[in-house]
Amino acid sequence: MDLTSNRQSWAVVGGGILGMTLALRLREQGKEVTLIEAARDIGGLASAWKIGNSVWDRYYHVTLMSDLHVRNILNDLELEDDMRWVETKTGFYTKGRLLSMSNSIEFLRFPPLNLVEKVRLGATIFYASKLKDWKKLESIGVCEWLTKLSGRSVFEKIWKPLLRAKLGENYQHASAAFIWSIIARMYAARRSGLKKEMFGYLPGGYRRFLQAFEKRLVDAGVTIQKGTCVQHVKRTGSVVKMDTADGFEREFDHIVFTTPAPAVSKACPGLQPREHGLLNGIRYQGIICPSLLLKKPLAGYYVTNITDDVPFTAVIDMTALIKPEEVNGNYLVYLPKYVDATDEAAFSRSDDDLKAEFWPALKRIHPHLTDDDLITFQVARARNVLALSTLNYSESLPPVHTSIPGVHVVNSAMICNGTLNVNETIQLAENAAVDFLKLDSRVAADVAGSRCAQAV
Ligand SMILES: Cc1cc2nc3c(=O)[nH]c(=O)nc-3n(C[C@H](O)[C@H](O)[C@H](O)COP(=O)(O)OP(=O)(O)OC[C@H]3O[C@@H](n4cnc5c(N)ncnc54)[C@H](O)[C@@H]3O)c2cc1C
Repeated sequence: MDLTSNRQSWAVVGGGILGMTLALRLREQGKEVTLIEAARDIGGLASAWKIGNSVWDRYYHVTLMSDLHVRNILNDLELEDDMRWVETKTGFYTKGRLLSMSNSIEFLRFPPLNLVEKVRLGATIFYASKLKDWKKLESIGVCEWLTKLSGRSVFEKIWKPLLRAKLGENYQHASAAFIWSIIARMYAARRSGLKKEMFGYLPGGYRRFLQAFEKRLVDAGVTIQKGTCVQHVKRTGSVVKMDTADGFEREFDHIVFTTPAPAVSKACPGLQPREHGLLNGIRYQGIICPSLLLKKPLAGYYVTNITDDVPFTAVIDMTALIKPEEVNGNYLVYLPKYVDATDEAAFSRSDDDLKAEFWPALKRIHPHLTDDDLITFQVARARNVLALSTLNYSESLPPVHTSIPGVHVVNSAMICNGTLNVNETIQLAENAAVDFLKLDSRVAADVAGSRCAQAV
């Protein structure tokens, strides 16, 4: 590819997976690209941190066999062959009992549901997995849809606790497209036969992936500016000007925000009122996510879904997937709790306060644990994580190309027909890069057109 053919300067704001992918693809189109990230390290939600004496992902991550966009990048980075694929088990904690629900036989034995309820639940999941027209589902409330398909009792016993766990009271505002996208993704992860799940991870975790990705960006000629929070963007003459918190000032031909929508509205006061309304109208779920290092293993379920009233959404036993050697021979567990992004009370709770509530609840689920088994309890928090798929969501999204010429928005809130995951994020970035290439051709055509007009 001729890298000198198009020397427009582009800034990509946000060094998460979306921004990194977009920066790489824009650079491959020959643009001069600067990637600007507020945090000290790139990676955003996929970044790693130190847990006790180990380093692993800040939030739990797995790759599915069907995540072809992720695997393509891993392949590019020569990491795909190192992926480990593991058959995992799923647990269910309901009415004080921890049950396995990892295959069809266990599903048929699952005590909380009678036979008719099981058939209706199974049929709902199967039906949803076969649906292709997600747009239609956007206009139906998730509660109405699931109750109609599974019946009131299955909704109350299974779906409602699961929806509440992920969305809190916001579940009442979600559309059927939300649950459809989760079912479609998980179904794609299952093989035929006993429908076992195969999940993958890269030894060394996302840190290794991000380090290789960052190196690829630098080698390709992308300038990376870390620890730089973009504060203000405005159009000045033929360029867009950016101010950052540390006094860094630069001009670009184009700026693309990959950050959550409220950050775009804040940084671009010159947008039209309607655009501010759309950006700030997106409702986000946040997450409070303690990581625990333990001396003892749990029960071998990668995910334990919970229908009982406990303070966290699920139990994620990372060492049911990764080898304990990855975390110095210990066992890594996450206890995520999804909350509304604006829930100040939840976000102001200290690690100690959360530990006092979460640790005893985990011990109730796994009574073999004692206080002596807990090595580390530390909490990661993020506010604008998951844009809530409300009714007719895709129609209330802000445009990619804003009213400020040269300022664009491509963020994970634009994933309308999928769940929040790295694969969708990469796909979104790659589609956006193609769209930006068309923008170049339009500009080139306009320039050529005006040259022709001048010549005439
Ligand atoms: C608990 C949890 C579990 C998950 N599990 C999985 C999983 O198992 N598998 C999977 O595939 N995906 C999973 N995901 C989803 C995955 O992490 C995300 O899809 C992906 O990381 C999103 O990347 P992003 O670039 O869109 O956003 P982000 O990672 O949020 O990146 C946005 C970046 O913008 C930066 N930024 C914000 N404001 C500014 C500013 N003003 N100036 C400069 N920079 C700014 C932020 O610091 C951040 O780095 C999980 C996510 C969470 C939270």
